Amino acid sequence: MVTAMTDHAQLASWDRDYFWHAFTQMEEYEPLIIDHAEGVWLTDTEGNRFLDGISSMWCNLLGHRHPGIDAAIRDQLDKVAHSTSLGMSNIPAIELAKRLASLAPGDLQHVFYASDGSSAVEIALKTAFQYWQQCETPRPEKTQYIALSQAYHGDTLGSASVGGIERFNGIFGPLLFDVTHLPTPDPRRLPENIEPNQAAEYYLAHLEKVLAEKHKQIAAVVLEPLIQAAAGMVFHPPGYLKGVRELTRQYNVLLITDEIVTGFGRTGQMFACDHEEVVPDILCLGKSLSGGYLPLAAAITHPKIYSAFLGPATSGRSLMHGHTFGGNPLAAAAALATLKAIEDEQILAILPDKAEQLAGHLAKIEQLPHVSATRQKGLIAAIELTSAPDDNRPFPAEMRVGARVCQETLSRGVMLRPLRDTIVIIPPLSISAEEIDLLGNVLYESIDIATQQAASTLTSCPGSTVS
Ligand code: PLP
Repeated sequence: MVTAMTDHAQLASWDRDYFWHAFTQMEEYEPLIIDHAEGVWLTDTEGNRFLDGISSMWCNLLGHRHPGIDAAIRDQLDKVAHSTSLGMSNIPAIELAKRLASLAPGDLQHVFYASDGSSAVEIALKTAFQYWQQCETPRPEKTQYIALSQAYHGDTLGSASVGGIERFNGIFGPLLFDVTHLPTPDPRRLPENIEPNQAAEYYLAHLEKVLAEKHKQIAAVVLEPLIQAAAGMVFHPPGYLKGVRELTRQYNVLLITDEIVTGFGRTGQMFACDHEEVVPDILCLGKSLSGGYLPLAAAITHPKIYSAFLGPATSGRSLMHGHTFGGNPLAAAAALATLKAIEDEQILAILPDKAEQLAGHLAKIEQLPHVSATRQKGLIAAIELTSAPDDNRPFPAEMRVGARVCQETLSRGVMLRPLRDTIVIIPPLSISAEEIDLLGNVLYESIDIATQQAASTLTSCPGSTVS
C-alpha cells in the first residue's frame, strides 16, 4: 500500500506531470497505479483488485509473484545483477540459451539476446541482411523484405518498417524503408468467389507471385505465425504458415517468425510454429520469455545462418549488433524459472481444459445481440462487436465501444484492453477455473451493457451514421 508521504492523489499528480505513458493520450489519461499483485490479481493504490485479463500487456505468463520465479531472481541477485554479453558471458544466460535451443522448433540453436521484442525483430532483420552479404555464395542484392499488411513487430524503425498498421506507423512513413506488404491472410476478408477452405491457397498465391518476381532481391519474409496480434488477433487460415515455409525454401528466401506474443504455450503449443511443424530460419521471442517479469527477448538462429558469421576476429563477419542489457542474468534467471515452472506445473497439459472452459463462455457471449463473432486459439481469444447484427456493421469508431466495454469490465474488477472494437482476452496461463468463470461472466455482462447503451445512442440520434 502507498505510504502517507505518497498517497494516491500525490502519485496521480506526479504520474500525470512526469510519466509520459506509451500509446496514451496524456490529456485524457486517468492514473491507474498498481501497488502490488499476486497470481492473476493486480491491486491498485486505492486498494481495488483487478483480474489481469491482458497478462500485463500480453507478457505475464504464470501469474504475478510466482514463488519459483521470485526465488530465482532473488537467488541470482545474491550473485550478480548484470554483466555484459559483449565478448563474455554469465551462467543463467548460457543455461537459458541451451534450454531455448532444446525447446525451439527443429535445430534452431544460436540465441542472440535483446531486452525487448522490437529489438529481437531488428536483430532478425539485420541477421538476414548480413547473412546474404557474407554467406558461402553471397547474394548482396538480397536486401529487401516481405511482410504482412496489418502486421505489428514493434516500434523501432526497422521493426516498424516491416509492420503494417497505418495508425501506429503512418506518421513515420518517411523514415521507414520500403517493404513489400502482402494482404493480411484473414479468412474473413476473402473475395466472394473464394471458398473459406481455399483461403490459405488464395493468400499463398499472393506470396508466390511476389517471390516469383522479386526473390533475387528478397532477404526474408517476416510474419507473426498463426495470429496477428495487434491487428486485432487475426487468425490465419490453417496451412498458410506451412505454405509460406515451403515457398520461402523454394525461392531461397529466409523465414523470420515473430513469436513475441504467441510463444510459450499461449496458443496451446509451446510455439505457434509447432502447430504446423514449421522450422523458421530465425525465431523471435520476447514478452513471456521471462514470465513477463523482466525485459528479455531473443532471436534464435539456425546453424546454417550462424555459420556465415564465423571467421577470424579481423574478418568483419561478426553480427554487427548488440544491446547493453542483452542476456541480463536476472532476466535469464527469471526465464529459466519460467521454463521450469511450465514443465513442473504441466502448464501445456492442463491448458486444453482451460481453453475449453473459456470456449464455453465465448459461445454464450456470441449469443449477445451486438457480438458478431468470437475466435480462440489456446488462451488467446477475441470478440468482435457490431452495431447492426443483421449485416455485421461495426459501431462508428469515434464511439470507442471497445473501450467502453473495457471500462465496464474494469468497474467489475477485470482488466482488459481492446484493439479498437475487438475485445482481446489473453490471461496468464495460470488462471484458475473460478477465475475463468469470473472473467467470462464479467465480460458477458459488460459487453451487454456497453453495447446496448451505444446502440441506443445510435438509434436516438437519427442523424448519426454507421460506417
Ligand atoms: N512483435 C509482436 C508480435 C508484438 O505484438 C510486439 C509488441 O506487442 C512486439 C513485437 C514488440 O515487442 P516490444 O513491445 O517488447 O518491443
